[in-house]
Amino acid sequence: MRITVTVIKADVGGIGGHTRPSDGLLNAVRNIIRSQVVKNGNGLLIDSYIGYCGDDIHIVMTHTKGVDNSDIHKLAWRAFEDATRVAKNEGLYGAGQDLLKDSFSGNVKGMGPGVAEMTFEERPNEAFTIFAADKTEPGAFNYPFYRMFVDALSNTGLIVNQNLAGGVKINIMDVEKGRIAQLQMWQDKPTLEAALMYPGRYVVSSVYAKDDQPILAASTDRLHNIAGKYVGKDDPICIIRTQKDFPATEEVGAAFNNPHLVAGNTRGSHHVPLMPVKLNSPASINYAIPIVSALVFSMHNGKLVGPVDGFASADWDYVRQIAVERTISIRSQGFVHPATLVPSELEYAEGYRARMNVLWSRMRPISNSKGQQFNQHKQQPLPQNSPRPQQKQQPPRLSQRSQQSNTPKPAAQKPMIPQKDVHNTSAKPVRNARKPNQPKTQATTTEVKKPQSSEK
Ligand code: MG
Ligand code: MG
Repeated sequence: MRITVTVIKADVGGIGGHTRPSDGLLNAVRNIIRSQVVKNGNGLLIDSYIGYCGDDIHIVMTHTKGVDNSDIHKLAWRAFEDATRVAKNEGLYGAGQDLLKDSFSGNVKGMGPGVAEMTFEERPNEAFTIFAADKTEPGAFNYPFYRMFVDALSNTGLIVNQNLAGGVKINIMDVEKGRIAQLQMWQDKPTLEAALMYPGRYVVSSVYAKDDQPILAASTDRLHNIAGKYVGKDDPICIIRTQKDFPATEEVGAAFNNPHLVAGNTRGSHHVPLMPVKLNSPASINYAIPIVSALVFSMHNGKLVGPVDGFASADWDYVRQIAVERTISIRSQGFVHPATLVPSELEYAEGYRARMNVLWSRMRPISNSKGQQFNQHKQQPLPQNSPRPQQKQQPPRLSQRSQQSNTPKPAAQKPMIPQKDVHNTSAKPVRNARKPNQPKTQATTTEVKKPQSSEK
């Protein structure tokens, strides 16, 4: 039986901040979704599950309508619209935050909610795990995905499981340009590693076995690319099929046991470890540590059993402790990068730019004690208090004499404005792109327009 598993998530409001949805809000979603679970032959869905991770509600749906089905997507959209009405009535924070469009247009992709879905021939004992994260970005899963599908030191199954040992196909999305590339393991391993090096730009969107069985599907939207401004972190969610030809459930779970630094947390502007948490956990108010929960399901004929709470066992308390220790460690250096993100990734870029405009307006050329102004890149004046060497009064050199007599005095220099400044958040850093036949010394430059950010 071919079954589609669709999971759609959105943040449409939190209690007292970006913490968790209210019960009223969850009930609004349940009422819409459960009314469509098939009964007496009527209904779109075979089964459903609704839960949350931090302030994000996830709707798990099983059905036979395939991926990108407009009826299924519209159902989730309606549920989030109803929940938004409740959130507004309750005065929840960020009501309707992730619903970026006024009306549904056939597919929730590109409208704010995150989507992960896949269709497959159901195995007799189908097993899959959904990982839902909050206060971070889609690339937060790059590192655990690498551990699951590429790193045999993390996953012995990559050696002893015949299918996995043959390598998988990994689709990488460029979330800035909206393009996708398929990489084959093992021949493309170094290319994959280069892509995963920068999770803010390149994100694993799906993984397939060599025989094209789908194994993993992940949400990869970046909300600010949709809205044109920052509207909240793009908290990711993914489905991973496990057991038999795929990684064991324990192999995918263990990939989260080394809390790695991800972009996110308070104001979406810091690097903090990703902490595994129990199902339906609120976000931490300890600077909103990024969190991830694991929903472990069995499925038969599209009917769900579970979820088991993947990160509830005692060993994960120890991992949580590591995450908290690492959080306190990196937070101890406050706003100093890399505790904070690079300027172009800051959530509150307008506020940062306002501060930097003050700094830039006060910038003046650097002068020495005689008032001479130097190009700071070529010659630095001596520090004010440093002892000056005794100098003999020497006649100027011939070249200087001719300059003094023939050359008019240069006009007073204007205040110096950085020409190519990585702290300018209105533009992406200049990238060098060398054409195939172009010499290395003549790298071309491309300016990529960066959407402006605003307060969420
Ligand atoms: Mg929120
Ligand atoms: Mg969230």
